[in-house]
Amino acid sequence: MRGYFDANATTPMVPEAREEWLRVSSHHWHNPSGLYPEAVAAREFLEGLREELGGWLGCSPRRIVFTSGATEANHAVMAHAALGKEKVVISAVEHPSVTAGAARFIDRQRLREVGVTPGGVLDLVRLEEVLDREKVGWVSLMAANNESGVVQPWREVADRCRERGVRFHCDASQWIGKRSAEGFAVCDFVTASAHKFGGPTGTGFLVVPEGTSFCAQAGGPQERGLRGGTESLPAIAAMVAALKAAPAGDGGNGRNHFEKDLVECLPGVRLLGAEEARLDNTSMIVLPRHKNLRWLTRLGKRGFAVSTGSACSAGQGDPSRVMQAMGCSFEEMGRVLRISALPGATAEDWESLLDALLEVRDELDRRGAGNPSGIRKISLENL
Ligand code: PLP
Repeated sequence: MRGYFDANATTPMVPEAREEWLRVSSHHWHNPSGLYPEAVAAREFLEGLREELGGWLGCSPRRIVFTSGATEANHAVMAHAALGKEKVVISAVEHPSVTAGAARFIDRQRLREVGVTPGGVLDLVRLEEVLDREKVGWVSLMAANNESGVVQPWREVADRCRERGVRFHCDASQWIGKRSAEGFAVCDFVTASAHKFGGPTGTGFLVVPEGTSFCAQAGGPQERGLRGGTESLPAIAAMVAALKAAPAGDGGNGRNHFEKDLVECLPGVRLLGAEEARLDNTSMIVLPRHKNLRWLTRLGKRGFAVSTGSACSAGQGDPSRVMQAMGCSFEEMGRVLRISALPGATAEDWESLLDALLEVRDELDRRGAGNPSGIRKISLENL
């Protein structure tokens, strides 16, 4: 593959994580709940990892519960929120693991959704209104959006919630490993997945308030009884190694140059959320013409991986709630590409993606001459 630009979906394990996975698989494969010396050593090792992660997050290790990833952790938070009587507020651009968890566990009468500006940032004025008018017990807001890369005012909302005695949950899946952890300690709940930052798939964590007795997953006494299931020590160790290896910031301005050149070379292209603070690795664009799947398959043949950001353009699934919340029409949603680079992507990587996009544009324009909107009915052979 010449260019991997789907890093918000997943990232490959970084060498540090892979080595740690192998090392721990050979040395600490015993069950940390056992009572014999090797198991006790495995448990001590596990607790050491919890301390390291707690140190990075700036919170007590006792607040950390290891999980199978952010989906499980987000579901657990929503199931916990369902136990109260007060209103639960979520933003309109949360990941489906939050929205579906909320819909599954929380009575509709208790759920409030707060929209975003056309730039994709939580509408803080509206949130304040809801907090003033209703008896709110919980607020859930992601740190940065997985589709648009737009950074949310989560630190501000965490502070406001704390002032009002409202519990605050931050889905930090797209933030961790890209930006600083400052501020997580004041969130009541934080959730994340290791494979978004160079760790293994199928592992992640949940930060809970100290003293919580809510059980995220019933089973054995693991994780102080908060989440049953044998801990995957190699995966947890690899996650912590990936976090330590993650770059301090995603810095590079390759994305900005790419977007500037793209707007010049591809008239009619629209950048979503570009006026707002965004993760430096992410660009969400509305192409001027032709369905996004046509671009995506042709880019794939040239060795470039990108995403449509939603399944709706393939004629399956629901339209992206993020794009809808940002005011995209249904037709525009079929022309969206989400581009998200790995840490360390160079200006040349972004330039080669731009070249490939322009090649695809020429090919599609030649093929679709007379029908440049690409609106005719498409079949898979036609792609
Ligand atoms: N939250 C956000 C913001 C995400 O981007 C994702 C994955 O795309 C998740 C939660 C779910 O992560 P996982 O599939 O690893 O459980």
